[in-house]
Amino acid sequence: MHQEYRQQLAARLGASAGDIFPYWKGRVALFALLKAMGIGRGDEVVMPAFTCVVVPNAVLYAGATPVYVDIDPISLNPSAETIAEALSERTRCVLVQNTFGLSTEVEAISDLARQRDLLTIEDCTHGFGGTHGGQPNGSFCDAAFYSTQWNKPFSTGLGGFAWVRRTEIREKLHAENTKLLPPTLKQRLMLDMLVRINRAFVNDRSYWFLMNTYRALSKRGLVLGSSSGGEIASTRMPQDYFLGASEVQARHGLRALREFDALLALRRKNGLHYNHILRQWGKFNYPDALLADHAFLKFPVFVHERPRFIEAAARARIRLGDWFCSMLHPVEGSLEAWGLDPARFPVARQAAATILNLPTDTRQRQRVEDFLASQLEALAVRRT
Ligand SMILES: *Cc1c(COP(=O)(O)O)cnc(C)c1O
Repeated sequence: MHQEYRQQLAARLGASAGDIFPYWKGRVALFALLKAMGIGRGDEVVMPAFTCVVVPNAVLYAGATPVYVDIDPISLNPSAETIAEALSERTRCVLVQNTFGLSTEVEAISDLARQRDLLTIEDCTHGFGGTHGGQPNGSFCDAAFYSTQWNKPFSTGLGGFAWVRRTEIREKLHAENTKLLPPTLKQRLMLDMLVRINRAFVNDRSYWFLMNTYRALSKRGLVLGSSSGGEIASTRMPQDYFLGASEVQARHGLRALREFDALLALRRKNGLHYNHILRQWGKFNYPDALLADHAFLKFPVFVHERPRFIEAAARARIRLGDWFCSMLHPVEGSLEAWGLDPARFPVARQAAATILNLPTDTRQRQRVEDFLASQLEALAVRRT
């Protein structure tokens, strides 16, 4: 099962199965890659100041230091130029992210890194299935990692994998992987149960109720959550962090991959449509060139009076996402422990203060569109 899963993933990326390494979560793949690259104490890893907290966590767990850079207000990713300014004598690696599926300047950034003898990792946790310049996301860096968590391009409940593109790193990764812990029986059974519940019951109508219940239970440690409380509250590595993949994930992954093309087509269609109507309304939208070859995992919009907007969406039962409402999602409050001072990254700070995300995997797009039409005043025209 495992081997077939690796083969299918490889086939979609134009890789070979031996270059694909599944883990219990995407963040574990990142951590393993950093270790395999020999990145640790004294080393700096450059990354966007607009990401998921588990990304700087993996860097900190490896003993290295995250160095943040601001994002471009349209592509929601750092430019090659901003990255160049952040490089120092201690920089070892640059992380490039497919934020919400968007990727920009990946070639320029990887060229820059190569000239400076730096390693590159592409965070494709939002970008599986998308392409850049006609090539699958993940094709441009020394390695890439992907997530198959609940809301990622396809889901195995929790899960993720690495794609390694260099022989030396692959060999070191094999050595790192001998330290992986196997998920416990309880973890595997609970994951299997949650994936089945998700498939059977979660839809546009039940979403808010089930989501809130799941978040409340996982916060208290009663069900398996995406992040343990500790990962959001501190920068210390949890004890059962370095876990390998399980057969449960391979099985659900193979099934999800069979349905993936239809899901991707739906996302693409809905995302392009949202963009089209926002443009017609004179609201913030994305340039066509950016959308040419990718699918929005969720469609980021920017709003005024966010709490009121969220309440209205809950009343209308719109499946609104809150990703990146924090510069290090989902940490609320100070980011000091992660070495991030929001004031230094005004664009990312402003984006995090106003962002919300529309569902792209919905079969009820008209309802979302009607809701947006009722909230025109709240939608931002242009961000600065
Ligand atoms: C979800 C996510 C991750 C981590 O994926 P997991 O499988 O949950 O560990 C990393 N980076 C970004 C940007 C993400 O959104």
